[in-house]
Amino acid sequence: MRQRLALLRGHKAGSRSARTASARIQGHHNIGRIHEVGEEAAKRWGVSKGDRVVVEEFIPCGYCPMCLTGNYRLCDASDPMLAAPGEYLRYGAVPTSVSPSLWGGYSELQYLHPHSILYKIADHVPAEMGPLFIPIANGIRWMTEVGGVGIGSTVVIQGPGQHGLGCVVAAKEAGASCIIVTGLTEDARRFEVARSLGATHTIDVREEDAVRKVREITAGALADVVVDVSAGTTEPLALALEFTRKLGVVILAGQKHEPVPAFDSMAIYRKELTVRGVRGHDLRSVAPAIKIIESGRYPLEKMLTHLYPLEEVGRALSTIGGKGDRNAIHLSVLPVLEREKVGRAEKIEAKAGERDG
Ligand SMILES: [Zn+2]
Ligand SMILES: [Zn+2]
Repeated sequence: MRQRLALLRGHKAGSRSARTASARIQGHHNIGRIHEVGEEAAKRWGVSKGDRVVVEEFIPCGYCPMCLTGNYRLCDASDPMLAAPGEYLRYGAVPTSVSPSLWGGYSELQYLHPHSILYKIADHVPAEMGPLFIPIANGIRWMTEVGGVGIGSTVVIQGPGQHGLGCVVAAKEAGASCIIVTGLTEDARRFEVARSLGATHTIDVREEDAVRKVREITAGALADVVVDVSAGTTEPLALALEFTRKLGVVILAGQKHEPVPAFDSMAIYRKELTVRGVRGHDLRSVAPAIKIIESGRYPLEKMLTHLYPLEEVGRALSTIGGKGDRNAIHLSVLPVLEREKVGRAEKIEAKAGERDG
């Protein structure tokens, strides 16, 4: 059974670099139109030429225990944490030396491997909104499937970046009545976005006694679920254990790259906490995320802080790397084919500039 090469014509692709350094086309929050597709692939995916789709970053093997149990996000064949570049397949992370080179979204065309996971997305959704399916799907899986958040839940979300905001949307959608977002003084603008998406409280952990504040807000009941979405710093983990009620769930969603100093496990023991690591999303969360985006129920455009034309991908990457605007939430790169949208990108940046001034 031979499949013809399937190609996706990119409208725009989302953010975040992988950790590999070899030459590759980055961009793994991807949306585009089917540019060319073989008969067999079209049948398998239920798509035809011209259909608009988003593509998950995973390219799983389809045969291992993780894949067969629906946990394809953890498939070794697509896991950058296990293998060296070129030894695993994942959009935005495969070197261009691996044929046919087009493995990322910062490009006019992206190759669709036979194991790609595609979802149709409605034509009325602006292209730059499509890539938000990843942070929102992550939020849905982490909050509802892993955390069990539902009607009346109290949650604390540590970190108001794109994934923290995805958790806000998911918690709100699931019926949580108290959604607390913590962050730093520099996060003031992200806090605003969090509130517009459904956060009921925001706490600046540098300025306020966060544990006392959570106790106050919840009248001593503390949080049912706490998710640490902050990257790098390990301090939020100690706070997370304090924010959580007895039998609550603590979710670790941020990569730390270093051990937690003087980690005290007594809170886990004393409160019988469940501590869960989470990585990414799957069909059960991506499908509803797309419905949320299509519905227009949330002002998700507030998460889109920067758009760049393809030629300025370097600038986009340095902003992601923290060298640009501190208020960046979700950045997108538009292939040259979509040049007409760049005017809009400049307007967004000009607006950000006005606020800075
Ligand atoms: Zn990402
Ligand atoms: Zn697999």
